[in-house]
Amino acid sequence: MNIALIAHDQKKNDLVQFVTAYKDIFAKHALFATGTTGSRINEATGLDVTRFKSGPLGGDQEIGALIAKNQMDAIFFFRDPLTAQPHEPDVTALVRLCDVYSIPLATNMGTAELLIRGLEMGLLEWRNVVKENGDVNGEK
Ligand code: PGA
Repeated sequence: MNIALIAHDQKKNDLVQFVTAYKDIFAKHALFATGTTGSRINEATGLDVTRFKSGPLGGDQEIGALIAKNQMDAIFFFRDPLTAQPHEPDVTALVRLCDVYSIPLATNMGTAELLIRGLEMGLLEWRNVVKENGDVNGEK
């Protein structure tokens, strides 16, 4: 599965701890991240992470483009709900695309626990069916 990892600044420590705790599961998948988040995760865990631009510089939109192309299977996006973000429109757009394409999205630690355990249990296998048969646009 292709998994995207994004965390706003106040949430980066949480996401790094989360990925570290579930490193064995994440290691079985292809990881993608916005710039700074990806660096932090790579430094802390040694996991390979394909990094896009930093979120405020377009990284969220790069990940959104992969969602639209049916190439992203799950998103862990630890948002900071207490701090205004300069790229709020990009954040909203990313969440919206997850809803357009029914991509599992965890925006906080509580849901992230469920998503990672679901991933481990094989509950996201339906994504392989979508990738074989095409999404709502017929995109494979
Ligand atoms: P960053 O971007 O990982 O480069 O900090 C995340 C974001 O703020 O969207």
